[in-house]
Amino acid sequence: MKTYVYLDHFRGEVVPAAWEALGVAKSFGEAVGLVFGSGVAEIVGQAFEYGADEIIVADDAALVDFRPETYASTLSAVLAEDAPALILLPATTRTREVAAMSAIDLQSGVLTDVGALEFDGEQVSAIRPIYEGKLFEKTICAARPQFVLLRARAFPRPARVPGRSGTPRQVSAAGKALTTVAGYAASESSVSLADAGVIVAGGRGVSNAPALGLDEAATAQKGFELLGELAGLLGGAVGASRAVVDAGYIPYAHQVGQTGKVVAPDLYIAAGISGAIQHVVGIRSAKLVVAINKDAEAPIFQAARFGVVGDLFTILPALTAAFKQKLGK
Ligand SMILES: Cc1cc2nc3c(=O)[nH]c(=O)nc-3n(C[C@H](O)[C@H](O)[C@H](O)COP(=O)(O)OP(=O)(O)OC[C@H]3O[C@@H](n4cnc5c(N)ncnc54)[C@H](O)[C@@H]3O)c2cc1C
Repeated sequence: MKTYVYLDHFRGEVVPAAWEALGVAKSFGEAVGLVFGSGVAEIVGQAFEYGADEIIVADDAALVDFRPETYASTLSAVLAEDAPALILLPATTRTREVAAMSAIDLQSGVLTDVGALEFDGEQVSAIRPIYEGKLFEKTICAARPQFVLLRARAFPRPARVPGRSGTPRQVSAAGKALTTVAGYAASESSVSLADAGVIVAGGRGVSNAPALGLDEAATAQKGFELLGELAGLLGGAVGASRAVVDAGYIPYAHQVGQTGKVVAPDLYIAAGISGAIQHVVGIRSAKLVVAINKDAEAPIFQAARFGVVGDLFTILPALTAAFKQKLGK
């Protein structure tokens, strides 16, 4: 069984979940990586090292910027020609568009946001959370190819084997872009919570430290400095509840929850977050949740494996000091 894997990247940087998808494909048999773009030789090399058995590459100036029209048309052409039963894609904003457009071309269906798979050698049963994670839905796609979008960090990343290589098969780009990219500009916050292994998140509690004698905004700034220090030490990212995003203490890119990001880190530290359901739905896939809150009755403790009842302005510096000592930093 050959499973196709779409290796999604932005300007040459492959999303980590693409390698996870490659690992899933390998567990079913052979993995065929698809690499589209312009000047993508490096990605092809990485894909062989991560275990791709074959690679199909469309390296074309027409694909220099991601445009769903050209990428989907190229994907449809390859899939129509090769007729695989299954294609896996890491779930990203780009792949949601590409998979949907290509599935329409090929009159097939898309299974989205998949966190677990069952596979009988022919048919995939995709399991995904619905209703804010209260239920798991099992879905199948009767048409072929089955397009399956995998959630980031839901599957293990395969080991990279330096020096493993192969010869890719070249194909042409297809389709015509109806829009062009005039330019890119970095946003003020480019945090990537979906791929983070550790997230240290703050809620309204970061703005509550009367002893500091500061106003709420200045207190929150101090609070997020403490969070950032711990996150930096652990190689993680800073997350936030909606309350502090709405208050303007941190950009929206950091928001976790129903209207923010759904995350799946190995460790999620929630400091000064009450644990409203709209926040908790975003952390259901976290492997370990630690809560720090002054209020022993705060609902976040129901979602946490470990809880510390106390003031985050005392607990966070103590945690950082303890980790520094333990890690020898
Ligand atoms: C449609 C909709 C969508 C939403 N989407 C989201 C979402 O995506 N993400 C999200 O987070 N929320 C979301 N919300 C908002 C959500 O309902 C809560 O209002 C929000 O999560 C509360 O944020 P908080 O826990 O930071 O603040 P609060 O609920 O005010 O809690 C602050 C907590 O900090 C503790 N605390 C205070 N001072 C300290 C201190 N010094 N040390 C330690 N602990 C302290 C308090 O005991 C309290 O538990 C949404 C709401 C709606 C209606």
